[in-house]
Amino acid sequence: MKSFRYLEGVATIRVDRQRCVGCSMCLTVCPHRVFTIQEKKAVLVDRDGCMECGACATNCPTEAISVSPGVGCASLIINRWLKGKKIGTGGSCC
Ligand code: SF4
Ligand code: SF4
Repeated sequence: MKSFRYLEGVATIRVDRQRCVGCSMCLTVCPHRVFTIQEKKAVLVDRDGCMECGACATNCPTEAISVSPGVGCASLIINRWLKGKKIGTGGSCC
């Protein structure tokens, strides 16, 4: 989902390469294709596509991923506000 973006450079997602065992679970659960595997390690290839849902960190068996859930949603709201777009209510912004 390359067209999906919040504010650039604000995503809190991090991967600890030392802990990563290359199981690919983060690729499987990420809805925005933020990861790839290179040299048997997870690599962030689209950090700005991260909506900080936390699914990757929750499912990583080695706790190699850290992310602050919800910051991306706040960024989306700010982004829409800056662009003058109406913000929907009553549902998940992500
Ligand atoms: S889920 Fe965790 S251990 Fe598995 S590839 Fe992703 S970061 Fe590495
Ligand atoms: S927090 Fe969600 S969107 Fe971000 S990398 Fe993890 S699974 Fe993908």
